[in-house]
Amino acid sequence: MSEQIFVTHSSMPPYEEYCNEIKSIWETVQLTNGGPIHNRFKDAVREYLKVQHLELFVNGHLALYCALKALKLSGEIITTPFTFASTTNAIVQAGCTPVFCDVKPDYTIDEEKIEALITEKTTAILGVHVYGNICNVEKIDAIAKKHGLRAIYDAAHAFGVQYKGRGIADFGDVSMLSFHATKVFHTIEGGCVCFHDEALKKELTLQRNFGVDGETLQIFGTNAKMNEFQAAMGICNLRHIDDELALRAAVFKRYSENLQSAKGIKILKDQENVKRNFAYYPILVDPESFGVTRDDLIQKLQKNGIYARKYFYPLTSENKAFPNGLAEKTPVAKQDSERVLCLPMYAHLKLSDVDRICRILLQK
Ligand SMILES: *Cc1c(COP(=O)(O)O)cnc(C)c1O
Repeated sequence: MSEQIFVTHSSMPPYEEYCNEIKSIWETVQLTNGGPIHNRFKDAVREYLKVQHLELFVNGHLALYCALKALKLSGEIITTPFTFASTTNAIVQAGCTPVFCDVKPDYTIDEEKIEALITEKTTAILGVHVYGNICNVEKIDAIAKKHGLRAIYDAAHAFGVQYKGRGIADFGDVSMLSFHATKVFHTIEGGCVCFHDEALKKELTLQRNFGVDGETLQIFGTNAKMNEFQAAMGICNLRHIDDELALRAAVFKRYSENLQSAKGIKILKDQENVKRNFAYYPILVDPESFGVTRDDLIQKLQKNGIYARKYFYPLTSENKAFPNGLAEKTPVAKQDSERVLCLPMYAHLKLSDVDRICRILLQK
């Protein structure tokens, strides 16, 4: 039997390179709390992402949570149920109520359906750039402006994505990125918040550090600081990001060549004016025309040592804490969650393995 293939596989910098990067920590003995490596990485990643302001966090989830708290949001936030649990959890943990909006065929929030969901309690719109597919940021930013709402993006999947030559995290009031080990770019665990309003820097810093400001306890904050070892991993991985993206592009292309004419399988389409990051390779399986259900396909791949994942099943609106039947209000998202399958996708996946995965997948 061939080697097992998982849905993701973290890229590692050369061992010596990482050791070299962390060496100085044995001299400074500053392990965390905004050390010199943290600050160097912050500048480097801000430049790469082409954003105005950026603050680092211990992970993406707490970055998003702190961003919502820093914006002092309350009431309702219009968002998508077709995402990782983190997005919805952050909204609820920040004391707000998620209001679920359906998605478009590209899996992102349907901007045409947002305005109908706005009430006097609405304070923000939180879109997710799912699989690196971007939301209609121009339209969403305009709706937010028109109704006096905040535009927030979960850009956890969108590291390096550009729209019309602009860093995608530069859109909206605030964007969060995740640097988790399974993402296109990682700091082991990690994340950041990108923003425009300079006053948010102080709020984010308070949220991230227990609400402590010198000798004053300003608010009830959490602990979400990125440490020096994480930042060192980030500095190393940022040196190799162009290679990472090029390798991913080749894997992505190979999948598309194999699958583009398969009946009953829908693959990702290019988006206009978007520079992709090849973060994921989702397919949508139509059980009627393909002849096999998504769940049977998972089993078949698994028997061959290939572990594809149901991102995103269930919808985040299907949390047991919410009333039953909530997911029926977003029928497109609901159907996608029953049909979607993310195939193994990482920089060092062999093209011969991509061919083998597709062969097994298409074998009737
Ligand atoms: C990974 C992910 C997060 C959370 O990021 P962590 O860094 O793992 O905390 C949030 N939203 C989405 C859509 C994600 O995929």
